[in-house]
Amino acid sequence: MNPAVVDIGLNLAHDSFDADRDHVVEAARSAGVSHMVVTGSTLGSSRAAIALARSQPNVFRATAGVHPHHAREFPDDDVPALRELLRDPLVGAAGECGLDHFRNFSSPADQERAFRLQLELALEVGKPVFLHQRDAHDAFLAILRDYRPRLAAGVAHCFTGDQRELDDYLALDLSIGITGWICDERRGLHLRGLVRRIPLDRLMIETDAPYLLPRDLQPKPHGRRNEPKYLPHILKVVAACRGEPPEQVAAATTRNALAFFGFEKDSDNLAN
Ligand SMILES: [Zn+2]
Repeated sequence: MNPAVVDIGLNLAHDSFDADRDHVVEAARSAGVSHMVVTGSTLGSSRAAIALARSQPNVFRATAGVHPHHAREFPDDDVPALRELLRDPLVGAAGECGLDHFRNFSSPADQERAFRLQLELALEVGKPVFLHQRDAHDAFLAILRDYRPRLAAGVAHCFTGDQRELDDYLALDLSIGITGWICDERRGLHLRGLVRRIPLDRLMIETDAPYLLPRDLQPKPHGRRNEPKYLPHILKVVAACRGEPPEQVAAATTRNALAFFGFEKDSDNLAN
């Protein structure tokens, strides 16, 4: 039996799951994934994430936000709509939000505007932030430093950076989300040493499915689609890198995730 784990980043509203979403969730639950946080990356996918959460409020939470890739599709006029979504009791965090200068699908200026708007909203509703950053560390950190003292909490999701980035995040008392990137023998090797630097009470794990299929799964699945059922594999790799028993890492990351995303709040009225 695998110990219970929580997938804090799963794009379950993605259309690659349209044909077999229920089956994907069942397979994950059978593999020991007790809870899942469905990522919102646009207003539309945030609404879909909330609808999924509502279908099984004891299993799911949602995030609501606008990914930096979509920042240019987030006019100021949409702020009230996002505020409304963030107030939903099933929304555990604002985001994913942040900066991504890797391809600049939205301009850096649009990304910064959307990021600040979402940080303001997170402060307003008193919820943590689910953060995305790629190739934009210094600009990202400068903005985050302004807000961090007033923010409830934050997680740097899908951390793939270097030691300086990690230490900067930990100094801001952020939590760190580790994906199957750590299983990638081409570009994830540096994470295997770095993951030891993360205090156990700041560590969470995620698949980012359907993206980032772990490259070292045995046997190799057919197709490229990642699924939440592979989270126990990521747990094992993270635990091995840290030199800790998987049960210990599972217990800590689960405790962290349940508290961070508000699973522990009274869920009696959440399904309505
Ligand atoms: Zn992301």
